[in-house]
Amino acid sequence: MPVLERSLRYLFAPIVLTFIGIAALQQLTATWQEWLPSFHELPYYLLALSTLLALQFNCGRISYLSLLLLLYYYLRQVAPLAALDQDQVFLAGTLIITFFAISKDRSPFSIHFFKVLLGISLCFALAFVWKASASGLASFNITQLPSMLNLVASLYIPVGISCIVISIYTVLHASGTNSTIALTQFIWLFHHYLPKEMPLAILLSMLATAYLFSMLFALYDLAYKDELTGLSSRRALNTMALSLNNHYSLAMIDIDHFKKFNDTYGHDVGDQVLRLVAKKLSKVKGGGQVFRYGGEEFTIVFENKNIERVLPHLEELRHKISHYDIVLREQGRKSRSKLDRNSKHKANQALNITISIGVAEQHGETTFEKTLKRADEALYKAKNNGRNCVFA
Ligand code: GH3
Ligand code: MG
Ligand code: MG
Repeated sequence: MPVLERSLRYLFAPIVLTFIGIAALQQLTATWQEWLPSFHELPYYLLALSTLLALQFNCGRISYLSLLLLLYYYLRQVAPLAALDQDQVFLAGTLIITFFAISKDRSPFSIHFFKVLLGISLCFALAFVWKASASGLASFNITQLPSMLNLVASLYIPVGISCIVISIYTVLHASGTNSTIALTQFIWLFHHYLPKEMPLAILLSMLATAYLFSMLFALYDLAYKDELTGLSSRRALNTMALSLNNHYSLAMIDIDHFKKFNDTYGHDVGDQVLRLVAKKLSKVKGGGQVFRYGGEEFTIVFENKNIERVLPHLEELRHKISHYDIVLREQGRKSRSKLDRNSKHKANQALNITISIGVAEQHGETTFEKTLKRADEALYKAKNNGRNCVFA
């Protein structure tokens, strides 16, 4: 996915949507104002639910953030954190969110819990040191550069750096969880700089809802997406089969001599070839939906298409894959297993892989399993015919 699309989908879209949500709620203030007393309780339930679910599904970062926000909300309710410098709390929160943005999801029930604890303490310490040194700096009365010193003494520099780090990380490592962490930063900034615009109870309820949804999406991916290739999984194919009508064509695709490829170049290179083939297959024309059936086998379903209409698209796929030069970097290099098409690696070994395809068309009242079996038989014929061909 190009960087621009990733930025739009994973960084800007969630933030803009939340912003629109806040703006819409502001317009409807009169409607929800009378409900506000009951809203005060809502973050407790939603953040507690989010913490528990995140713990259950090993979403370590969401569980910590939910719990910390719950604690923050509680402390603000019982005592408005008066003893603490608000700027320090805000800066510590910003650093903690940044810390989680660049960390990996690890189970809190492990040795990593202590590392996280250390990280959080460090963020508080850094916030304290920054504030102390910034106010020390501001106390020097140098008249020539007052605005410059004001800027240095303000929170803009560390907060700005945090925002940049979080944004870059979210775009480079696009995922639902990273999006919600970027959203946490946005809500945290909004709460600090525009505290009167929206009650914290509503902001945190919105954020906790985003956490819950991101976990739901992650669960969906777990059930229906293949982790290695990102294609829909066999479970998704089986689910789709239940709602197919009686008019479709189905292709079974198998990489030729893949075992030999694995044995020669290693499992890592094999995995990268699988990703590459998946990427090529996912560009199939004619409205085909691609699934990883298992191992080095893939399935494409063309709804409302007969065999004659899908054969040219499959032939095009076979041709493209067989003509794609896979260049392995020099042996012995650390990145040896990386695939590269760059022509400057011509000196290195170029490889080609081929696929065989079997196609069948659904007719009459036969079941999906029977059509799949016929496509499998056609694939068998393609293999016996010398591979690298399409058989119907
Ligand atoms: P044919 O042309 O007849 O299809 O031969 P083949 O070697 O491709 O078929 P075979 O069924 O003998 O071997 C399939 C190989 O696919 C065996 C296994 O090592 C490899 N494979 C299956 N899943 C994965 C995977 O997720 N990653 C990697 N790297 N290899 C896989
Ligand atoms: Mg096979
Ligand atoms: Mg094979």
